[in-house]
Amino acid sequence: MAFAGAAHHRAVESRRDEALLHRMWTHPETRTLVVAGGEVQVDPGTGAPLWCPTDQVPAGERYLLGVDPADCVRFAVHLPVGVEVERSKGLRELAATASATESGWLCHAVALAQWHATHGHCPRCGGPTEVSAAGAERRCPDDGSTHFPRVDPAVIVLVTDAADRALLGRQDEWPAGRFSTLAGFVEPGETAEQATQREVAEEAGILVDDVRLRATQPWPFPSSLMIAATAAAAGSPDPRPDGIELAEVRWFSREELAESLASGEVAVPGLISISRWLINGWFGGHLPDDPGWR
Ligand SMILES: [Zn+2]
Repeated sequence: MAFAGAAHHRAVESRRDEALLHRMWTHPETRTLVVAGGEVQVDPGTGAPLWCPTDQVPAGERYLLGVDPADCVRFAVHLPVGVEVERSKGLRELAATASATESGWLCHAVALAQWHATHGHCPRCGGPTEVSAAGAERRCPDDGSTHFPRVDPAVIVLVTDAADRALLGRQDEWPAGRFSTLAGFVEPGETAEQATQREVAEEAGILVDDVRLRATQPWPFPSSLMIAATAAAAGSPDPRPDGIELAEVRWFSREELAESLASGEVAVPGLISISRWLINGWFGGHLPDDPGWR
């Protein structure tokens, strides 16, 4: 699954050791990914992410990502606003072709950079904060408070009815025919299971039971952790879209979904998303827009 295959050791114990960090940075085998404007620097020719030796990297904020399985240390360098690279790409585009391990690295670097870019001030005193712990935190020099990168848990659920049809919904701003599984953020004091039941009730007017958490996926747009669940509705209740988050909600049998995808009447999320992983898991094979179909 895209973004979910990070295999690096995050070297948490090294983040405060300045002498060690210096040795890591100056080691000839260390590699660095450059992040600029929320995108990753890529090779101008091949379009693949560029992992540069540290002496070839422009100046910017430096974040330690970790150590790869070959014992090579990897950093990200986040360029200041307005400094551009010759060619860069966003994570959605890169994830479509990168391995799950590679997209895990890219996700770590970009999600961290996006958080730093938007958390330059202390939520306590409003003063400017500075990078700390090799990029894993920000610290306020005025009041000494420490601030950690935010990760926002969201549930995403494939609901089935008594006939094993899948409930999919469409947001108003999406193109006609674009459907996905239902989703929403977990609120304070709420379990992922409770959030799942609440979201389905709010968005589709359906009560569900048997909520089971299946997998999770970092989703760096900008900082979600998607918690994929399945849940069951008793009988086959008529969905009632709330008209706010969802304009349309309907049940699909496997045959209906395959036919409407093949005809182009309906589209579902792309292969990098956990929503698609849930839909494929329910469908039990390749869908007509998969490369592996037939
Ligand atoms: Zn402060």
